[in-house]
Amino acid sequence: MRAAVLSEVHAPLAVEEIPTPSPQAGEVLVRVAACGVCHTDLHVIKGEVKFPTPAVLGHEISGFVVSLGPGVAGAPRRPSSADAAGGTRLREGMPVVCSFIMPCGVCAWCAQGRDDLCETFFAMNRLRGTLYDGTTRLARRDGSPLAMYSMGGLAEYAVVPATDVFPLPEALPVPESSIIGCAIMTAYGAVHHQAALQPGETVAVVATGGVGSNIIQLAAVFGAAAIIAVDVRDDKLDAARRLGATHTVNAAKVDAAAAILEHTKGRGVDVAFEALGRPDTVVQAFGAVRDGGRVVIVGIAPGAAAAPIEITRLVRRGIRLIGSYGARVRTDIPALLRLAARRVIDPERTISRRYTLAQIPQAYDALSRGEIVGRAIAVME
Ligand SMILES: [Zn+2]
Ligand SMILES: [Zn+2]
Repeated sequence: MRAAVLSEVHAPLAVEEIPTPSPQAGEVLVRVAACGVCHTDLHVIKGEVKFPTPAVLGHEISGFVVSLGPGVAGAPRRPSSADAAGGTRLREGMPVVCSFIMPCGVCAWCAQGRDDLCETFFAMNRLRGTLYDGTTRLARRDGSPLAMYSMGGLAEYAVVPATDVFPLPEALPVPESSIIGCAIMTAYGAVHHQAALQPGETVAVVATGGVGSNIIQLAAVFGAAAIIAVDVRDDKLDAARRLGATHTVNAAKVDAAAAILEHTKGRGVDVAFEALGRPDTVVQAFGAVRDGGRVVIVGIAPGAAAAPIEITRLVRRGIRLIGSYGARVRTDIPALLRLAARRVIDPERTISRRYTLAQIPQAYDALSRGEIVGRAIAVME
């Protein structure tokens, strides 16, 4: 199969021919339809997030089930009426989506349903680039191993733990639904769980990339009374309005926190989301929130970057600073798929560009230059 390989930090991604992997116990082989182009991959390429190389990146995919590894319960040969009515058992050819967090299903956090904190995922995949038997499924033709960032989705095939393979409802477009696995799921975790956004609340979204634009889309669904989008490019702010933003602020031209205060009659928003992971945008979000409000930080920062937060205001005004990473995969992905199937949310609305597998290096260059409005996807066929 073809895969986009990162040979070493700062090297351009190169499309190589490598052996098609095989699923082991508890795993599923997926033919990748599309993989989202996410900023976190870019952090790895730039060495801002440490990860072993050589590696195959790409961590939000959709595709079709090719085969089930030992122990994965497939559909019975003669489907029952329950299966025909939308049962969730996997079978060959079934369209699926997979999230970047691949819950192990057995650690103490997974046992509590907190897949966002899965310690096996962090210890085995994010630190070592392997699946949960401690080995990778990917190798070069000479047999040398390739680390897997999540499932290594920038490839024609990917092996994914069965705990992270979710049947896609028939009505949904397969390639575009790939972004449910990171951009939309991360937005949902921030809006629903960590912010616990209530109808009628006011919201600011600082940085409107793949995650930020989906926070806007979901905040509108959750009934936010005002959604103030902040970015540094007018084309991104125009797109934010089409997704439901009621106000826009170009932070390259005006003081973002002051503009947000102005739009909220000097009060500040109930919830400020930060979706870029930079010290200055974290400070903007902190400055935009009302007394007693919530600042929800979603952006992954380079290395050990730190943001200066005014301690006295934090304390005296009872502001809550909340981190948010992904979501509770095994319950939230099915919930999002139900919302998407009913067209309450629409993955296609935040996708602005489609690249081929061969064009993946250009996709990450464009992302690095800040040119991608919303999300880009790499379509494998
Ligand atoms: Zn991502
Ligand atoms: Zn776990």
